[in-house]
Amino acid sequence: MFTLLELPYAPDALAPVISADTLSYHHGKHLRTYVTNLNAALPGSGFEDSSLEEIVVRSEGGIRNNAGQVLNHNLYFTQLGAPQAGRRPAGALLAAMERDFGSFEAFREAFTKVAVGLFGSGWAWLAADAQGNLRITQEANAGNPVQKGLIPLLTFDVWEHAYYLDWQNRRADHVAALWDLVDWKVIEKRFESR
Ligand code: MN
Repeated sequence: MFTLLELPYAPDALAPVISADTLSYHHGKHLRTYVTNLNAALPGSGFEDSSLEEIVVRSEGGIRNNAGQVLNHNLYFTQLGAPQAGRRPAGALLAAMERDFGSFEAFREAFTKVAVGLFGSGWAWLAADAQGNLRITQEANAGNPVQKGLIPLLTFDVWEHAYYLDWQNRRADHVAALWDLVDWKVIEKRFESR
């Protein structure tokens, strides 16, 4: 059985980019429902002892969608911290970004385009392959780059439930503000321990 992620910060820690109100729905209602639905689908599925990643890669239908949303949200919520302008990566991750995208700024611009341009509901991802090459991917609905054999590093949730209470239809403004929340230490650790 999977449990609801405990948020590593206070409910108002991400305001005003993500309000306590949004967080209470997004974490306390949406993510909780995905966890509940996943646990309800487990008995008899053959995935009772599988990790989230295994379920996402090997299953299909409702169980895959709910496992994907639990995995995606766990990665999303644990990579965020209090708003702080000018946050940027360092170390091996920054070096890989400069190698594969030219600069951090060029990466951010390309990732932003993917997040803002995603039609409907889904996720923008920075992922790495086994050799440490970086890739930006766009995944609809509950998609995760593990399904493409990649290691997920950073993700922006662009389902409307992630921003509508605070930003209404202004997804581009929300995405621009999200960069101030990214805790690059977490992303660097995911990259280095891949
Ligand atoms: Mn979400």
